[in-house]
Amino acid sequence: MMVVQPSKIVCVGRNYAAHARELGNPLPLTPLLFFKPPSALLAHEGIIELPDASRQVEYEAEIGVVIGRRARHVAAGDAMAYVRGFTCANDVTARDLQKPDGQWGRAKGFDTFCPVGPVIAEGLDWQSLEVIGRVNGEERQRASVTDMIFSIPTLIEYISGIMTLEAGDLILTGTPEGVGRLQPGDLVEVEIPGVGLLRNSVAGVSA
Ligand code: MG
Repeated sequence: MMVVQPSKIVCVGRNYAAHARELGNPLPLTPLLFFKPPSALLAHEGIIELPDASRQVEYEAEIGVVIGRRARHVAAGDAMAYVRGFTCANDVTARDLQKPDGQWGRAKGFDTFCPVGPVIAEGLDWQSLEVIGRVNGEERQRASVTDMIFSIPTLIEYISGIMTLEAGDLILTGTPEGVGRLQPGDLVEVEIPGVGLLRNSVAGVSA
Protein backbone atom coordinates (compact mmCIF):
# COMPACT_ATOMS: atom_id res chain seq x y z
CA MET A 1 0.00 0.00 0.00
CA MET A 2 1.25 3.47 -0.83
CA VAL A 3 2.03 5.73 2.11
CA VAL A 4 1.26 8.83 0.03
CA GLN A 5 -1.43 9.86 -2.47
CA PRO A 6 0.08 13.05 -3.90
CA SER A 7 -1.64 15.28 -6.44
CA LYS A 8 1.85 15.84 -7.80
CA ILE A 9 5.44 14.75 -7.27
CA VAL A 10 7.81 17.69 -7.63
CA CYS A 11 11.44 16.71 -8.10
CA VAL A 12 14.67 18.66 -7.87
CA GLY A 13 17.57 17.94 -10.21
CA ARG A 14 21.26 18.50 -9.48
CA ASN A 15 20.80 19.51 -5.84
CA TYR A 16 24.11 18.01 -4.68
CA ALA A 17 27.27 19.49 -6.18
CA ALA A 18 29.18 16.20 -6.37
CA HIS A 19 26.32 14.54 -8.27
CA ALA A 20 26.05 17.40 -10.77
CA ARG A 21 29.78 17.02 -11.39
CA GLU A 22 29.65 13.22 -11.81
CA LEU A 23 27.18 13.67 -14.70
CA GLY A 24 29.18 16.57 -16.16
CA ASN A 25 26.51 19.18 -15.44
CA PRO A 26 26.97 22.78 -14.23
CA LEU A 27 25.65 23.72 -10.79
CA PRO A 28 22.17 25.23 -10.98
CA LEU A 29 21.68 28.88 -10.02
CA THR A 30 18.04 28.21 -9.09
CA PRO A 31 16.39 24.85 -8.23
CA LEU A 32 15.93 22.72 -11.34
CA LEU A 33 12.40 21.29 -11.17
CA PHE A 34 10.73 18.42 -12.96
CA PHE A 35 7.80 16.11 -12.24
CA LYS A 36 7.14 12.45 -11.87
CA PRO A 37 3.52 11.35 -12.47
CA PRO A 38 1.69 9.80 -9.49
CA SER A 39 1.20 6.73 -11.73
CA ALA A 40 4.95 6.06 -11.29
CA LEU A 41 4.57 5.45 -7.53
CA LEU A 42 5.69 2.09 -6.20
CA ALA A 43 5.34 0.83 -2.64
CA HIS A 44 8.02 -0.65 -0.37
CA GLU A 45 8.87 -4.16 -1.64
CA GLY A 46 7.27 -3.41 -5.03
CA ILE A 47 9.08 -4.45 -8.19
CA ILE A 48 10.79 -1.95 -10.50
CA GLU A 49 10.12 -2.76 -14.16
CA LEU A 50 12.85 -2.02 -16.72
CA PRO A 51 11.19 -0.62 -19.85
CA ASP A 52 12.17 -1.88 -23.30
CA ALA A 53 12.83 1.73 -24.40
CA SER A 54 15.88 2.09 -22.12
CA ARG A 55 19.21 0.30 -21.85
CA GLN A 56 20.36 2.30 -18.81
CA VAL A 57 17.98 2.56 -15.86
CA GLU A 58 19.58 4.02 -12.74
CA TYR A 59 18.68 4.42 -9.05
CA GLU A 60 18.74 7.79 -7.25
CA ALA A 61 18.39 7.65 -3.45
CA GLU A 62 16.56 10.76 -2.22
CA ILE A 63 14.94 12.35 0.81
CA GLY A 64 11.20 12.71 0.20
CA VAL A 65 9.31 15.58 1.84
CA VAL A 66 5.58 15.04 2.39
CA ILE A 67 3.54 18.24 2.55
CA GLY A 68 1.09 18.45 5.46
CA ARG A 69 -1.15 21.35 4.48
CA ARG A 70 -1.79 23.62 1.54
CA ALA A 71 1.26 25.81 0.90
CA ARG A 72 1.32 28.84 -1.38
CA HIS A 73 3.97 31.58 -1.29
CA VAL A 74 5.47 30.22 1.90
CA ALA A 75 8.66 31.85 3.19
CA ALA A 76 11.60 29.57 3.94
CA GLY A 77 11.45 30.55 7.59
CA ASP A 78 7.88 29.22 7.85
CA ALA A 79 8.29 26.27 5.51
CA MET A 80 8.73 23.45 7.98
CA ALA A 81 5.28 24.15 9.47
CA TYR A 82 3.86 22.94 6.15
CA VAL A 83 5.69 19.62 6.23
CA ARG A 84 4.03 16.48 7.55
CA GLY A 85 7.17 14.37 7.53
CA PHE A 86 9.91 12.64 5.59
CA THR A 87 10.09 9.42 3.63
CA CYS A 88 12.60 7.47 1.56
CA ALA A 89 12.33 7.85 -2.21
CA ASN A 90 14.06 6.46 -5.28
CA ASP A 91 14.02 8.72 -8.35
CA VAL A 92 14.47 5.87 -10.83
CA THR A 93 15.72 7.31 -14.13
CA ALA A 94 16.22 6.06 -17.68
CA ARG A 95 19.54 7.89 -17.99
CA ASP A 96 19.95 7.18 -21.69
CA LEU A 97 16.64 8.91 -22.49
CA GLN A 98 17.31 12.12 -20.51
CA LYS A 99 19.73 13.89 -22.84
CA PRO A 100 18.15 12.94 -26.21
CA ASP A 101 14.66 13.95 -25.00
CA GLY A 102 15.68 17.28 -23.43
CA GLN A 103 12.54 17.20 -21.30
CA TRP A 104 12.60 14.45 -18.67
CA GLY A 105 8.97 13.36 -18.68
CA ARG A 106 9.77 10.03 -20.29
CA ALA A 107 13.09 9.30 -18.58
CA LYS A 108 11.58 9.88 -15.13
CA GLY A 109 7.96 8.92 -15.73
CA PHE A 110 7.70 5.19 -16.44
CA ASP A 111 5.40 3.12 -14.21
CA THR A 112 7.28 1.87 -11.09
CA PHE A 113 9.94 4.63 -11.40
CA CYS A 114 8.97 6.27 -8.08
CA PRO A 115 9.42 3.89 -5.14
CA VAL A 116 8.42 5.67 -1.90
CA GLY A 117 8.09 4.56 1.72
CA PRO A 118 7.86 2.48 3.82
CA VAL A 119 6.58 5.14 6.26
CA ILE A 120 6.26 8.87 6.73
CA ALA A 121 8.34 9.85 9.75
CA GLU A 122 7.09 12.89 11.65
CA GLY A 123 8.70 15.17 14.17
CA LEU A 124 12.30 14.85 12.97
CA ASP A 125 14.81 17.68 12.72
CA TRP A 126 15.34 18.10 8.96
CA GLN A 127 18.88 19.35 9.51
CA SER A 128 19.95 15.94 10.89
CA LEU A 129 18.80 13.83 7.92
CA GLU A 130 21.12 11.58 5.94
CA VAL A 131 20.36 9.46 2.90
CA ILE A 132 22.03 6.20 1.90
CA GLY A 133 21.66 4.22 -1.33
CA ARG A 134 22.57 0.53 -1.61
CA VAL A 135 22.46 -2.04 -4.40
CA ASN A 136 22.58 -5.73 -3.42
CA GLY A 137 23.70 -4.68 0.05
CA GLU A 138 26.64 -2.58 -1.18
CA GLU A 139 26.63 1.10 -0.26
CA ARG A 140 26.72 3.35 -3.34
CA GLN A 141 25.47 6.70 -2.05
CA ARG A 142 25.64 8.53 1.28
CA ALA A 143 25.10 12.20 1.98
CA SER A 144 23.84 14.62 4.58
CA VAL A 145 21.00 17.03 4.01
CA THR A 146 23.58 19.75 4.68
CA ASP A 147 25.27 18.80 1.38
CA MET A 148 22.26 20.05 -0.59
CA ILE A 149 22.76 23.14 -2.74
CA PHE A 150 19.19 24.32 -1.98
CA SER A 151 17.93 23.39 1.51
CA ILE A 152 14.53 21.85 2.16
CA PRO A 153 13.01 25.17 3.43
CA THR A 154 14.46 27.02 0.42
CA LEU A 155 12.95 24.42 -1.94
CA ILE A 156 9.51 24.79 -0.32
CA GLU A 157 9.70 28.57 -0.66
CA TYR A 158 10.75 28.31 -4.30
CA ILE A 159 8.22 25.66 -5.31
CA SER A 160 5.28 27.14 -3.38
CA GLY A 161 6.00 30.46 -5.09
CA ILE A 162 5.28 28.75 -8.40
CA MET A 163 2.52 26.23 -7.67
CA THR A 164 0.21 25.50 -4.77
CA LEU A 165 1.42 22.50 -2.80
CA GLU A 166 -1.44 20.39 -1.47
CA ALA A 167 -1.49 18.16 1.59
CA GLY A 168 0.03 14.86 0.53
CA ASP A 169 2.16 16.29 -2.24
CA LEU A 170 5.65 14.92 -2.41
CA ILE A 171 8.95 16.70 -3.04
CA LEU A 172 11.97 14.62 -4.09
CA THR A 173 14.92 16.71 -3.01
CA GLY A 174 17.65 15.45 -5.32
CA THR A 175 20.24 12.67 -5.22
CA PRO A 176 23.86 12.71 -4.06
CA GLU A 177 26.78 11.32 -6.05
CA GLY A 178 27.12 7.60 -6.66
CA VAL A 179 24.20 6.93 -9.00
CA GLY A 180 24.48 3.84 -11.15
CA ARG A 181 22.80 1.24 -13.22
CA LEU A 182 20.18 -1.27 -12.13
CA GLN A 183 20.25 -4.78 -13.57
CA PRO A 184 17.47 -7.39 -13.64
CA GLY A 185 17.26 -9.10 -10.26
CA ASP A 186 19.03 -6.31 -8.31
CA LEU A 187 17.83 -5.34 -4.85
CA VAL A 188 17.94 -1.56 -4.33
CA GLU A 189 17.58 0.17 -0.97
CA VAL A 190 17.18 3.77 0.14
CA GLU A 191 17.69 4.34 3.84
CA ILE A 192 17.21 7.51 5.85
CA PRO A 193 18.36 6.72 9.40
CA GLY A 194 15.54 7.54 11.81
CA VAL A 195 12.98 7.42 8.99
CA GLY A 196 13.18 3.93 7.53
CA LEU A 197 14.45 1.69 4.78
CA LEU A 198 12.80 1.41 1.36
CA ARG A 199 13.58 -1.82 -0.45
CA ASN A 200 12.64 -2.74 -4.03
CA SER A 201 13.73 -5.43 -6.41
CA VAL A 202 14.25 -5.08 -10.12
CA ALA A 203 12.19 -7.33 -12.37
CA GLY A 204 13.82 -10.14 -14.24
CA VAL A 205 16.63 -12.59 -13.67
CA SER A 206 20.32 -11.67 -13.52
CA ALA A 207 22.31 -12.69 -16.57
MG1 MG B 1 16.74 12.75 -8.78
